[in-house]
Amino acid sequence: MTTVRCPNCGKEVPWTPDQKWRPFCCERCKLIDLGAWADESHRIPGDPVDPWEQANSEGPPDKPN
Ligand SMILES: [Zn+2]
Repeated sequence: MTTVRCPNCGKEVPWTPDQKWRPFCCERCKLIDLGAWADESHRIPGDPVDPWEQANSEGPPDKPN
């Protein structure tokens, strides 16, 4: 039987049609993994600041005088 490892906890999961949460072992692991992505905790530390956001925070280029 083909098995995969749950991306969240590493438990072996049988790759069968009745395993509805594959490749996760259970609903909980799937939700945890999706939640982690939503939280951006998978984001690489030291991500450069978005240049667009940085440009906008500098304010208008020419001030009215
Ligand atoms: Zn799991």
